[in-house]
This record gives sequence, structure tokens and C-alpha cells, in this order.
Amino acid sequence: MAKLIVANWKMNPSTETEAIKLARASDHKNVVICPSFVYISSIKYQVSRAQIGAQDVFWEESGPYTGEISAVMLKNLGVRYVIVGHSERRRLFYETDEMVSKKLLAALKEGFKVILCVGEPLAIRRKGIPAAKRFVKKQLLTALKGTLNLKPITSNLIVTYEPVWAISGGKRDIRGKADKPEEALEMIRFIKKILDSRFMIHDSRIIYGGSVNGENAGDFLKYKEIGGALVGGASLRPQEFRSIVRTAWGY
Ligand code: PEP
Repeated sequence: MAKLIVANWKMNPSTETEAIKLARASDHKNVVICPSFVYISSIKYQVSRAQIGAQDVFWEESGPYTGEISAVMLKNLGVRYVIVGHSERRRLFYETDEMVSKKLLAALKEGFKVILCVGEPLAIRRKGIPAAKRFVKKQLLTALKGTLNLKPITSNLIVTYEPVWAISGGKRDIRGKADKPEEALEMIRFIKKILDSRFMIHDSRIIYGGSVNGENAGDFLKYKEIGGALVGGASLRPQEFRSIVRTAWGY
């Protein structure tokens, strides 16, 4: 399975012109570009190799939900991928596992490839790996609880293990230093086992996110169980992003 590299631009860049330039520079195969919603329409005509993803989605189809964007709207724009449960949404916008579950179901039902983010905060990780595993297991079990009747579309599920403390650009309690590849691998194997045994998802793709850059990408991507990377900060630097993508092509 070719490695998948997801570019999460978050709330960047500030202008459409810059977004178009960045999209053109990031247009590689096996890449998903997740820009801000406002740039999706213009960017989709600028790329031919990369796929377009959204950074979030709401669970209702339409109605009085000020500021929200539905899966149908995204589908009609030609978006194929959607991120749900990113730690910044959980931390800053109080998204619960229940809300993440509703988003995931709505997106899967519309045929999206859903990138579900899970990962423990620093306070949990400090208690040790077993505590981190319990935390991630609960996130997974809640997010996926409604999917058992959705076969075979669960093959559209991509799980991203992103230890919250390893994500760059955060606040005081965020270290912004990548996890140790062997420890990320251990968690990814653990997630795989849960998907396999609890949800009968045997062909899952699990990717790693958290300060992946041009230098460390290979340390994660060399493992066959790590199906790719979710890249935040480095996806805004075209040369570095290209180097991550090229590394991924080598595995
Ligand atoms: C992210 O926010 O999903 C992420 C992985 O960011 P960064 O690569 O900057 O740590």
C-alpha cells in the first residue's frame, strides 16, 4: 500500500493567491491537501495529482447551524477526504468523542475517506504508555461505535495517531517534538489490533502525525504498519513538504 501524506494547512495561508501557489507546489501523487474551507473551490482546479480534503465537517445535512459545513456541501465541491476529531478541534472547540462519532458517521455515509485523529495529551502520556493506550482506546471505541453496520465503507477509514503533545505550534503544554518512532509504532499496532478485533476492519490504514518534517519522516515511514503521515507545519513549506513526499515514495 503506497504511503499517504496528508497536508493539514490549518488556518493558513492568509490569502487565496498564496493558497493557490502553495497548492501548485504541493501537487504530488499520494498526497491529500486539506486547506481552509474558503480555498477549496479555487484550489481544486489547480491540482491534478493531489486530492483535496477538508479539515472538518458537521454531522447534519442542512439547516440552522450557523458557521457549519455539511458533508453534502463538501461532496458537491468535489472533496474526497475529510479530517475529523483533530486535537485542536477537541481542545479549542470542546469537541467530544460523541461529536466526533457523529461527524465520522455522516462523512462515511456520504462516501468520504475519513481521517480520524486520535491521541493522548501530555498529562496522560506522563502517566505512561498503558494510560495513553487506555485513552486512545476510549477515543476509538466511542468514535467508531456506530460503524459496525456500515460495512464495507469502513475501508474508507484512515486513523491518524497524533499524540497531542507532539503536535507543533501549540500552547504551553504542547512540546512540539515528534514521538519516538518505536513508541508511535507500538501505539499504531495497538490501534490496528482494536480495529481488527472490535470492528472487523482488517485493511485499515493508520498514519502518524506530530512534528513530522523533512528530517524525521523516514524514521516513521520506514515501518510497514505506518501507512503515511499527517503533516501540519511542514506542509506550509513546499520544499520540505516535497522532501517528505519523496521519502514516502521510497517505501
Ligand atoms: C497536525 O496538527 O495535525 C500536525 C501534525 O501538525 P504538525 O505537523 O505541525 O505537528
